[in-house]
Amino acid sequence: MFADTTLTNQFIDLEHQHGAHNYHPLPVVLERGEGVYLWDVEGNKYFDFLSAYSAVNQGHCHPKIIKALNDQAQQLCLTSRAFHNSTFGPFAAFITTYFGFDKILPMNSGAEAVETAIKIARKWGVQKKGIPQEQAQIVVCHGNFHGRTTTIISFSDDEVAKKDFGPYTPGFISIPHNNAEELRKTLENNSNIVGFLVEPIQGEAGIFVPEENYLREVQQLCNQYQVLFIADEIQTGIARTGSLLAVCGNCNCSSSCLRQPDTFANPDILILGKALSGGVYPVSAVLANNNVMDVIQPGEHGSTFGGNPIAAAVAMSALRVVKEEKLAENARKLGKIFRSEINEYIKTSNVVLLVRGKGLLNAIVINDTPESDTAWNICLALKENGLLAKPTHGNIIRFAPPLIMTEEELLECVSIITKTLSAFETN
Ligand SMILES: *Cc1c(COP(=O)(O)O)cnc(C)c1O
Repeated sequence: MFADTTLTNQFIDLEHQHGAHNYHPLPVVLERGEGVYLWDVEGNKYFDFLSAYSAVNQGHCHPKIIKALNDQAQQLCLTSRAFHNSTFGPFAAFITTYFGFDKILPMNSGAEAVETAIKIARKWGVQKKGIPQEQAQIVVCHGNFHGRTTTIISFSDDEVAKKDFGPYTPGFISIPHNNAEELRKTLENNSNIVGFLVEPIQGEAGIFVPEENYLREVQQLCNQYQVLFIADEIQTGIARTGSLLAVCGNCNCSSSCLRQPDTFANPDILILGKALSGGVYPVSAVLANNNVMDVIQPGEHGSTFGGNPIAAAVAMSALRVVKEEKLAENARKLGKIFRSEINEYIKTSNVVLLVRGKGLLNAIVINDTPESDTAWNICLALKENGLLAKPTHGNIIRFAPPLIMTEEELLECVSIITKTLSAFETN
C-alpha cells in the first residue's frame, strides 16, 4: 500500500529546501480532505485525528461552509473597515447572540485575538480601574499556549518557543494552572492586575483538564478582585470538549440553549479562533460586553482583513453547522466511548500510561521519557495503519478527530489505535 513514496518525497524535499524549518511534520503529503478523511498524494486514505489542532471540528471541506465561501467570494471579498460591508454587521449580530456577549472584535489568527484581548484588558485597567500607565499586570498559567507573537511568547514557559527571542514584553505573572488558591493569593497581593488569561483546558501542554470547580472559582475571584476573566477557547471552544465552550462545564448543551447561567463559568472576554471557520479560512474573534469592549475607540486597534466579508460569511456558516449537526452532543458522547475503550486497553498495557481529556479533545501519555522517540514512532505506525495523529511534548499523543465522526467510525479508529499500540508492547 505504501510502497511508492517518490511523489511524497518530492514534495517533502521541495518544502525542506524552500520552506523555513519552523515545523517538524509527519512525513505525509496531503492533497484532499472530506469529512473525517484525508488523502495523500499517493492516494492513501487516512482518518484525521488532529483536525488541524481542532480547527476542522466541522470536518474537511464541509459542503455548507464551502458554499458560503464560494458564494461570498463571488460577491465581495475585502473592503477593509474603512467602509462598512453588508456581511460584517449580520455576522456581528449573529455571533454575539450565539455566544451571549454584547460585542465582537474580529481578527484573523488566534494569536492576534489573544493580543487583542491583552490590549483591551490593559486599556480597561487604565480607564476603568484607574491603574497607572504601564503598570498593568496580567496573570497567566504555567504551561500556557496562546500563540507565537513576541508578547505572547514572553509569558510562555516553553523554552523552545521562547529562547533567543528576547527582549520579552513585561506585565505578566505566571501561576500554576488548576489552582484557584494561587490565583487568590496573587490577586490579593497585587492591585495592578487587570486580567487572568487562561485556557479552560490546556491544549498544547498535553490536554490538562482542571478540577470541576476551578473555572467557577476563577470567575468568582476575578469578580471579587475586579479583574477580567479572559478565556482562550481557541482550541477548546466550538463544541470540541462536548459543550459549546469548555467554560460551559458539564452543561448539557441542547441545540437551542447552550449557555445556562447556573451551569457555566462566564468569562468577561472570550477568545475564539480555529473552528470558528471550520478550518476553511483564518477567522478569530474577541467577544465581550459593552463595559469592556467600549474602551476601544476608532484608531486604537484594527486589522485590514479582520471582519472581512468572506470571514464573516464562512464563520456564520461554520457556527450554524455546529448547532444543526449537534456537534457538542456528538463530541460528548463519542469522547466518553473513546476514553472508556482506551482505558480498557490500558489495563493490560505497558506502553500507555493513561488517557485524559474531555469530549473529543483527548491525549494518551506514553510510558517513556519526553526525550524518547516512542510517541513519534507510534504516530508513524498509526499513519501506516491509516490514522493521522501528532505527538506533543515528546511522550504525549493528542487525539482530536473532526466532531462529525460517527460512532462506527470512532470504533474503527479505536481498533486502529489499539492494534498499532499492541505492536509496541514489550512483552
Ligand atoms: C492554536 C492556539 C492559539 C493560536 O492560534 P493561531 O491561529 O495559531 O495564532 C492560541 N491559543 C490557543 C489555546 C491555541 O490552541
